[in-house]
Amino acid sequence: MIIDTHTHLDHIKHVDEALVRAYEVGVEAVMAVGIDAVTSRRNLELSQRQAANWPKIYLAFGMHPSEANVEELKDCILLMSEHVAHLKAVGEIGLDFWYPWVKKSDVKKDVQRQVFRRQLEFAKQLNLPVIVHSRGAWDECYQMVMDLGITKALFHWYSGPVDVLTKILDAGFYMSATPSLAYSPQAREAVNVVPLNRLLVETDSPVTFRRLKGQADGKDDWEPFEAEPKDVFKALDYVAEIKKQSREDVLGVVNDNAKQFFRLTE
Ligand SMILES: [Zn+2]
Repeated sequence: MIIDTHTHLDHIKHVDEALVRAYEVGVEAVMAVGIDAVTSRRNLELSQRQAANWPKIYLAFGMHPSEANVEELKDCILLMSEHVAHLKAVGEIGLDFWYPWVKKSDVKKDVQRQVFRRQLEFAKQLNLPVIVHSRGAWDECYQMVMDLGITKALFHWYSGPVDVLTKILDAGFYMSATPSLAYSPQAREAVNVVPLNRLLVETDSPVTFRRLKGQADGKDDWEPFEAEPKDVFKALDYVAEIKKQSREDVLGVVNDNAKQFFRLTE
């Protein structure tokens, strides 16, 4: 049994069937993360329809940096306040300065910072863990999490510089890995560095990853695929390969990490 610690269930086509497929291969639970009030509410509704042959659906509400909007954040905070009892985390929140049109715009970056800060304050106040999206702004995300005095942070799909990861780990925080380990040198390097007891696995489904199809003209031939929660096993297998440990050993540790991080047993 395994836990997919990051999936956008509301974005998955035919999500009921995808959940059944995940359950059938041994996915015990999923963390359904929101990117704004609308998607968070959709995940809440889905969790209220929890079926016996689905993985257990846990919830994280939040406003993603790509959706950052100060006005709409009010709705999101209100929704979080109303459903605190159902929340295991605040997420997915953070900063994303990856795209040039964001990187070049102080206005856009400031909106993201405001929205991130407000949600960190909320999480701190309610003593909830945070799921951080930090692409292209790894160090600044780390700084803000530290400045706000957050004690439980998960740097999701970490593929940033190793020196920032070292600071993240020194602060006692966690990172997660996805099936991008098949081809991303940065993601592989991060998994190489992180001790197993600070690592979680996830799919960020329905994101599109690549998988090796075979060989063509003496070169690796890749094909794209849309991830769903059952693909969390792919992330697990790559971690086992990089850490040179058995799948069972890695599984035991990452599951314990997830349960502890999100307080799933309480
Ligand atoms: Zn995500």
